Amino acid sequence: MEVSCPGTLAEAFDELAAFPETVVLAGGTDLLVAINFGRERPERVMSLRRLQELGELDQDGLVRCGARVTYARMLAELSDPVMRQAARTVGSPQIRNAGTLGGNLGTCSPAGDTLPALAALDATVVLASPAGERRVPLTEFMRGPKRPDRRPHELVLGAEWLTAGVTQAFLKAGTRNAMVIAVANCALVVDPERRRVGVGLGSVGPVILRAAQAESFAAGLLEERDWVLPATLPESAFVEFGRLASSAAQPIDDVRGTAAYRRHLVAVMSRRALERVCASA
Ligand SMILES: Cc1cc2nc3c(=O)[nH]c(=O)nc-3n(C[C@H](O)[C@H](O)[C@H](O)COP(=O)(O)OP(=O)(O)OC[C@H]3O[C@@H](n4cnc5c(N)ncnc54)[C@H](O)[C@@H]3O)c2cc1C
Repeated sequence: MEVSCPGTLAEAFDELAAFPETVVLAGGTDLLVAINFGRERPERVMSLRRLQELGELDQDGLVRCGARVTYARMLAELSDPVMRQAARTVGSPQIRNAGTLGGNLGTCSPAGDTLPALAALDATVVLASPAGERRVPLTEFMRGPKRPDRRPHELVLGAEWLTAGVTQAFLKAGTRNAMVIAVANCALVVDPERRRVGVGLGSVGPVILRAAQAESFAAGLLEERDWVLPATLPESAFVEFGRLASSAAQPIDDVRGTAAYRRHLVAVMSRRALERVCASA
């Protein structure tokens, strides 16, 4: 196996152009597992570790989170609670020190924990090649399970979104409390300034799903209150929000849970997310 470690983006692109079969390595927490289990046998691996540009994190209204930003950094540095809460649920401290946003995007698993949070934030994935940059909304970037919209010569530079305040929540359910792949996860962003609600659901469909009806329902409730978030809402509103979120799920039965259990989880988690967001307001 040839392993390279380019020092600049230009060098990285040259290598991808010369050897399109090159597999990119960030923290290795997905790729090395695949190699160790014999699912992947790349002949060329290109480490991103020296690419400073991919490690940048800017937050001046528009958040630009570089692909090499680790979960530990997301947890410590990002201002949007939904991303911090998602990062906190990932793996163990070792995984959070190594695993990156770009790796979560690159693997493109419907269970990836940052992905529903990015969907709820209406985030855009930024890709780059020698031809320039390309921006793709998160929900379009995921074309299917482990099928990112990434062309062979491209690198994921990172993700961008508008800072969305503090009324946000991320919930994840697994077969235990830590070091677990989500049976279902749910992200909620209520942005009173932009008057929008985002709901992202993971592990309940082939890709990350937006719960559009639940979003409109919650936005309608808040519109009636001129987007001043109440400390709580009538019980019937929480129940209806959960029901609408659950109706957006497209789960299957698998080793981690049944479709019926996942629908139930989405109803419970999305309802709790709205309760928490109201309480935090
Ligand atoms: C014990 C353990 C626990 C885990 N727990 C969780 C969890 O709770 N939640 C969760 O979501 N994930 C979890 N994971 C999976 C993994 O940690 C994450 O998906 C992580 O974000 C992968 O990032 P990485 O930097 O390690 O990626 P790598 O393994 O280096 O790469 C993953 C894929 O992305 C591609 N890639 C990486 N960076 C780029 C880039 N900039 N441009 C283009 N392609 C790129 C690679 O080529 C590869 O295909 C866990 C893994 C392990 C081993």
